Amino acid sequence: MEQAAARANERLETIRARITKAQKRFGPPPAAVTLVAVSKTFPAEAIAPYLAAGQLVFGENRVQEAKGKWPGLRASYDGIELHLIGPLQTNKAREAVALFDVIETVDRDKLAVALRDEMERAGRNLPCFVQVNIGGEQQKAGIAPDEAVAFVERCRQVHRLDIVGLMCIPPEAEPPGPYFAHMAELARAAGVEQLSMGMSGDFETAIAMGATHVRLGSVLFGARPKAG
Ligand SMILES: *Cc1c(COP(=O)(O)O)cnc(C)c1O
Repeated sequence: MEQAAARANERLETIRARITKAQKRFGPPPAAVTLVAVSKTFPAEAIAPYLAAGQLVFGENRVQEAKGKWPGLRASYDGIELHLIGPLQTNKAREAVALFDVIETVDRDKLAVALRDEMERAGRNLPCFVQVNIGGEQQKAGIAPDEAVAFVERCRQVHRLDIVGLMCIPPEAEPPGPYFAHMAELARAAGVEQLSMGMSGDFETAIAMGATHVRLGSVLFGARPKAG
C-alpha cells in the first residue's frame, strides 16, 4: 500500500514535469493541460493511490467497466471528474450520462440526440468533445475531418449539446504531428477551445501542438494486460 502510494506520487510527478516542459514548446502562451489518467483495465485498488496522490481526472473507455469501479471510488474521494473516452452505443447513453462527467466521443447525430435526451431526463448538462477520425481510418470511430466543423455546429445548434472541444486518436503507425496540427486547425475553424489529443507515446508532441487534455494510461499505471 505504502509502496503503491509512493509509486503513484512518483509517476504523477514525472508526468507533470514532462507536461510542463512540453508546454514551453508551444508557441502562444501555453494552454493549461489537463492530465486525464486512463485507468481502463485497472481495478479500483490500483486507481486509489492515484486519487490519494491528488489526481482527480480519469478516463475510462467502457461504460460497463466504469460502472463496476467508479461508484465505489466516488464514495471515498471527492471531486472526481470521469471522462468517457471510448465509443458509446446509443442504448448505453443513459448509463453513460449517470456515470461520467465528460463525454469525449460524440461522433454521430443519433448519439448526440440520445445524449441530449438522457441529459435532459437526468437534469445534467455534461461537457462533450466531438471525436474526429483524423486519419480517416476505416476501423476507427469519429466523424470525418471534413465533416467535423459542420457537425460541431449541428451538435450545438440543433442537438443543444455543450461541445467544448475535439478529441482524436491518430493512426498508430505514422508520426502524429501533422494529425495534431490538423486537429488544432479544425478546432479553430469550429470555434472550440479544448483539444483532447496525445497518449503515452506522443503526448509531448500533442502538447506542443496545442493539446489541452492528454489521455495517459500506460505511463501512469504500467502496461495493460491486453489491448483494452
Ligand atoms: C487506452 C486509451 C488511452 C491511453 O493509452 P496509453 O497509450 O496507455 O496512454 C488514451 N485514449 C484512449 C481513447 C484510449 O482508449
